[in-house]
Amino acid sequence: RNDSSQSSRMPDDKLLGGLLAPGFDERSCLSRYRSSLFRKISPHKPSSYLLSKLRRYEDLHKRCGPRTKSYKKAFKRLKSGHGSSGGCNYLVWIPVNGLGNRMISLASTFLYALLTDRVLLVEVGNDMSGLFCEPFPNSSWILPKSFSHTVEFRNHYERYARGYGNQLKNGIINESMESINILPPPFFLTPTFNQEVQRMFPERETVFHHLGRYLFHPSNEAWGRIIRFYQAYLANADERIGLQIRVFNTKTTKAQTVLDELFKCTQKEKLLPQVDPQNPAAAPIQNQRSKAILVTSLYTEFYENISNTYWAKPTVTGEVIGVYQPSHDETQHFGDNMQNMKAWAEMYLLSMSDVLVTSGWSTFGYVAQGLGGLKPWVLYKIEEEHTRNPSCVRDLSMEPCFHHPPTYDCRRKKKMNAGSLFPYLKYCEDLNWGVKLV
Ligand code: GDP
Repeated sequence: RNDSSQSSRMPDDKLLGGLLAPGFDERSCLSRYRSSLFRKISPHKPSSYLLSKLRRYEDLHKRCGPRTKSYKKAFKRLKSGHGSSGGCNYLVWIPVNGLGNRMISLASTFLYALLTDRVLLVEVGNDMSGLFCEPFPNSSWILPKSFSHTVEFRNHYERYARGYGNQLKNGIINESMESINILPPPFFLTPTFNQEVQRMFPERETVFHHLGRYLFHPSNEAWGRIIRFYQAYLANADERIGLQIRVFNTKTTKAQTVLDELFKCTQKEKLLPQVDPQNPAAAPIQNQRSKAILVTSLYTEFYENISNTYWAKPTVTGEVIGVYQPSHDETQHFGDNMQNMKAWAEMYLLSMSDVLVTSGWSTFGYVAQGLGGLKPWVLYKIEEEHTRNPSCVRDLSMEPCFHHPPTYDCRRKKKMNAGSLFPYLKYCEDLNWGVKLV
């Protein structure tokens, strides 16, 4: 699949400043080299050290990935409990939670693989198949089914019952990580990795931005959905505004309260134009600017209300507003491949916004902001109708918030305040005990 004559001709933009390896077959993954046509060029350049680590990793993955001699050796050893490991160490990622959570933990697991020279293999399961292209040239990151059949990961009980703990102890599998609670900040908090991650990411807030853009390329099916929607509704607008509206508990949070808070935010921050209640006529048609609002939500109420607002009355600025929502599944299902496909397409579409408003606590929004390189306005989570004033805040950075930082320093045997240890690690705006890189 590598074609070096083609690679040398590829412009830097297409390769996202050298982040992507050249030479992949373009047709099997149209999004990989086309994302630069649709998203603004990132002002954040990956460091040359990160690029060299990625190229080294790609060589390692090619040498040790599925179907290689080394992999077969390691697999044989796993099954029989003896023999040579083939000189390769592996890190297996297992999906848990929604897609946003998974993507963030997957990127962080990849960072851990980069830091420890392990080969990352991903259990895609049924509900994540066909969402992403292969990220590493001339190899695959998908954990072969034969492996999952041999080692059952589903829960701790099964793992230990089937001897997984012992296999881990005996060094057959190096590590496995569930897609839960893993984010880049701990690598900055760990003395063993601190210097290395600092070298890889001199701009601290770009960890997920670069690793996410490196790893996550929509499959042709996902890309088709993204581009058809983008071209039909968003491409021709002068400005694109993404509104990600995540309601965690519809029983305790009323849709009207969410809408009120959203409008308070967009009005205060001047993100959306006001409507003119006195003048029902259309605004003059010369030099009209247009804005496209992309609403993503599991529900329709927000889209209906916003679109009605701009249909019923003209804007005071004369701007023309279009409001669009790709899907509304109503409930979050687990194990649903099509729901993940829609969720992935919507996260990507949000990342193509010029202005982004997200919902606090939501990893769905974190993925969009990180991939888009956007510092969003974050709506505070509404707890049982308790609202905050102001209703939203500009985020400190585009990095995701790590919800579960350590609170105890085992070496010093005292309480740890993760958000005050380094100038580049701060408590999050949307969740005051979480930390994020800034
Ligand atoms: P989080 O729970 O907000 O942190 O985000 P996750 O992505 O981890 O889990 C939420 C899941 O609910 C998503 O993966 C989707 O399956 C679904 N979901 C939530 N909000 C939306 C939305 O706006 N659009 C779509 N298509 N799905 C959503």
